Parts: sequence; structure tokens; C-alpha cells
Amino acid sequence: MTTLSYSSVLHKSAYITLSKPVQVTLYMFLSSLVVWTVLFSTYPAIHNTAHSVRHHTLGVACH
Ligand SMILES: [Zn+2]
Repeated sequence: MTTLSYSSVLHKSAYITLSKPVQVTLYMFLSSLVVWTVLFSTYPAIHNTAHSVRHHTLGVACH
């Protein structure tokens, strides 16, 4: 029977957490969450700012 020491488990979990695929996945998930939140916010200040940024940068005519 093998027992993993506490530092060995910490080292392994740090290695997995800091690996490139995990970092890329976390980065894409969190940035998508931020963009989604800003674009679909109903809070007036954020909504109006995102609205005018969309008009000024993408030239989208929504009204
Ligand atoms: Zn508009």
C-alpha cells in the first residue's frame, strides 16, 4: 500500500493547476464570463456604455 505525503499531493495539484491547458481553459472561461456579463448587463450605466461602445467600434445599428 502506498501513501502519498501531503507535500507530494500539493506538488501534484500545483503541477496540474498550473499546466497550460488548465490556464487556457480558465482564461477563456473567465474572459467569456466577463464579456457575457458586460454585453448582457441590464444595469443602466454598464448597459449604456456597452451600447455606445458597440455603436462606435463595430458600427452596429440597432435602432
Ligand atoms: Zn443602439
